[in-house]
Amino acid sequence: MLPLETARSYVLDRCPARKPERVPVADALGLVTSSEIIASESIPQFANTAMDGFAVRSADVADAPCELRVVETIPAGHAPQVTVGPGEASRIMTGAIVPPGADAVVMVERTAIISEPSADPEIVRVEVSVPADNHVRPIGDDLGAGEPVFPAGTELTAGHLGVLCSLGMTEVEVFGRPRVGVLSTGDELVDDGSPLQPGQIRDSNRRTLLALAQRADVTPVDLGLAPDDPDAIEAALRTGTETCDAIVTSGGVSMGDFDYVKAVLDRIGDMRWMQVAIKPAKPLAFGTVGDVPVFGLPGNPVSSMVSFELFARPGLRSMMGHPQPIRPPDLAFAAEDLPRRPDGKTHFMRVLATPLGGRIEVRSAGGQSSHMLWAMAKSNALAVVPDGTGVRAGDKVDVLLLD
Ligand code: AMP
Ligand code: MG
Repeated sequence: MLPLETARSYVLDRCPARKPERVPVADALGLVTSSEIIASESIPQFANTAMDGFAVRSADVADAPCELRVVETIPAGHAPQVTVGPGEASRIMTGAIVPPGADAVVMVERTAIISEPSADPEIVRVEVSVPADNHVRPIGDDLGAGEPVFPAGTELTAGHLGVLCSLGMTEVEVFGRPRVGVLSTGDELVDDGSPLQPGQIRDSNRRTLLALAQRADVTPVDLGLAPDDPDAIEAALRTGTETCDAIVTSGGVSMGDFDYVKAVLDRIGDMRWMQVAIKPAKPLAFGTVGDVPVFGLPGNPVSSMVSFELFARPGLRSMMGHPQPIRPPDLAFAAEDLPRRPDGKTHFMRVLATPLGGRIEVRSAGGQSSHMLWAMAKSNALAVVPDGTGVRAGDKVDVLLLD
C-alpha cells in the first residue's frame, strides 16, 4: 500500500496549473489570480462624506452651538456647485463630494433647521464643534492608485470581486476554470427514478461528485452513466477528454471481474493503479489521457466522496493555480471514543465537528462503512485517525473540516 502523501504527490505532479487567461470579473468567483493586481485608480477617487449632514468650515463651528446659512444641497452622485464660505454650510448626503471651502462634516443628528420652511437661505443650527476632516473620507482612503492590491495566487472571493469592480476592472487574469466531467460506471446503476430490477441500485455518486466539483469552483460536466463494458467506458472517456479538462469517474477500479475502468485507462492513457493506505477509498486509478487528468475513484458512495476530497479536489485546485491545493487539517478533540482496528491504514472517519469553548469537538456521525452515505451526509468533517486502535474521548485528533 502507498502512503497517502506519495499517492497524492503523484497526482499533483500531473495536475499542473492551467494557462493564465483573462476572464470577465463576473465569472471569476473562486478562480485564482495568475498575476499581481495593481490599483489603476484610487478608492475613493474624491474626498466624500461618510455621513448625511452638513459640510462646514471647522473653524466656523469651533464655538458651537452656532448658526450657518445653507447654500446648497449635494446628493451622492452630483458635483457641488457652490464654494462654502465663512458662515455657510451645504447639506450633504453620504458619499457625496465634500464641496470646496468645507473641511468637515457635521452629522445631521447634531444639527437642526431653525428657519421657516420656505426661508431662503435656510438656517441650520450646529450643536457641536468638529475637528477638520471630521467624517471626511479622503482620496485613496481605502486604496491608493499604484498600490499592489492582490498578489498572484489569490483566490477570488466576493469581497475581491467587489474591489476589482471598484477599480473599474471588467476582466481579471486568472488560471482558468477547468471543465470537469463526471462519469458513473456500473451495470447496476439506474438514474431516472424508475422501478429497480433485481440487483439494480440508484446512481448517487454522479450527483455528489458533480456537487463536490461545483463546490471546488470548477465547471461540472455530466458525462452520464456507462455500463460495465470496456467499449462503452472508452467511448464515454473519449467524449470526456475531448470536451473537458479533467475527468472524475466512479466505480470499476477495484479487484472485481467487471472493473473495467482501470483496464480502459491503461489502454488509452498513462495510468497508475494505486492501493493507498487509507480507509475508505483504498483503490485509486489515476492517469492522464493526452494531458487530461482522469481520477478513477472507487464506487462505494463514501469512498468516492473521500477519494474526491483527498485526490481529485487537490488535483483540480492545483490545475486552478491554488498555492495550497490540499485542505489543511484542523486540530480537534474527540468528544467520545473513535475506535478502529490496526490495519496499516489511516482512517478518515465521518464525524460531526462542533465548536465548543474555543475548541473543536468531534463525535461520530454514524455508520463508518463505505456504503453508508447517510452518515457521510450528516457529517461535516473527516477525522484523520492514524493506524492503531483509535482515538479515546478527550484525545487530540486532526480533522478535515469539509465545505
Ligand atoms: P465498484 O467500485 O464498481 O466495485 O463499486 C463498489 C460499490 O459501489 C458497489 O456496491 C456499487 O454498486 C456501488 N456503486 C458504484 N457506483 C455507484 C454509484 N454511481 N452510485 C451508488 N453506488 C455505486
Ligand atoms: Mg462496479
